[in-house]
Amino acid sequence: MNHEAKLIRQLHLCDPKFDFHYLNVNLSFNQTTVKKFSIAIHGGAGTLLKSEMNPKSESKYREALSKALAKGYFILESGGSALDAVTASVVYLEDCPLFNAGKGSVFTSKGTQEMDASIMDGKTQDAGAVAMVRRIKNPVLLARTVLEKSEHLMLAGKGAELFAKKQGIKRVSEDYFFTKQRYKQLLVAKENNEITLDHDSRKFGTVGAVAFDQQNCLAAATSTGGMTNKKFGRIGDTPIIGSGTWADNSTCAISCTGSGEYFMRMNVAFHVACIMKYAKLSLEESVHKVIHELLPTINGDGGLIAVDANGNLCLDFNTEGMYRAYQKNGEKAVISIFKEEK
Ligand code: ASP
Repeated sequence: MNHEAKLIRQLHLCDPKFDFHYLNVNLSFNQTTVKKFSIAIHGGAGTLLKSEMNPKSESKYREALSKALAKGYFILESGGSALDAVTASVVYLEDCPLFNAGKGSVFTSKGTQEMDASIMDGKTQDAGAVAMVRRIKNPVLLARTVLEKSEHLMLAGKGAELFAKKQGIKRVSEDYFFTKQRYKQLLVAKENNEITLDHDSRKFGTVGAVAFDQQNCLAAATSTGGMTNKKFGRIGDTPIIGSGTWADNSTCAISCTGSGEYFMRMNVAFHVACIMKYAKLSLEESVHKVIHELLPTINGDGGLIAVDANGNLCLDFNTEGMYRAYQKNGEKAVISIFKEEK
């Protein structure tokens, strides 16, 4: 049995329901020395107060984060690429209805669901993005196919759906994405005549992952349903390379979550990379500058996860909390939601 077949079998043993066949696996099972690697994921930022969350739902979120993290970690541990690791973690989060991406995406003002996603490979700085897709089960897989198989960087709407069909990407009926909870949120938002983010006006449920692999390569991916009651046709920061997602091996890989309009105005993800590159600040200092100094100048709220070319991780936000998790090779996974867990 070759390495690829072995991996697929192991991944299925680890979670029989999870389909890993889309990955371009290139793993070395016979590795004797495991080099440094690390991964971080997020499930959105916002007003996440312990006092307002019931223990049952808190543990559901923690479990989902831990499982999503494990998907990517396993790939990195087996010598796989950062690009495969972020893909696997984001696919898991898209399939989980707790988060605002894939199944569980929020509704537009028209009562439809329009999803955005992007992915970037730090090694080549190739990127792929999709916007306003409505029937793609895993938008991040379509973004990855745009990266690998299209001469373009971003496809939107019907053109993206057609490209997906031609590439054999899994499409589902629009009903698949429906969840009662999100529909209720739309009704409330409409009643209050407001455009809200995820569960309430101050929570974001976008998902993302960043990783540093054993070959010293970086990658980032982000996926979202956007904002509840958003205008039909609105596109946020998530599929915009440099705003919601960035990866380049010389600086860092970033995935953002927050009010997309502010993240686009500040080019948040690329901004962090530029501060590192030109001002020569560390990952942590650069993230701090953008999240706590620059974004607040325009009242931008949200957070991001980041990893640098040495595998250092930084998970930061200027909101009350952020669903997040990280793990470095050989260390325990850390799962957090609230600010006080920082
Ligand atoms: N950034 C996303 C958007 O504006 C929302 C989120 O992070 O939840 O579409």
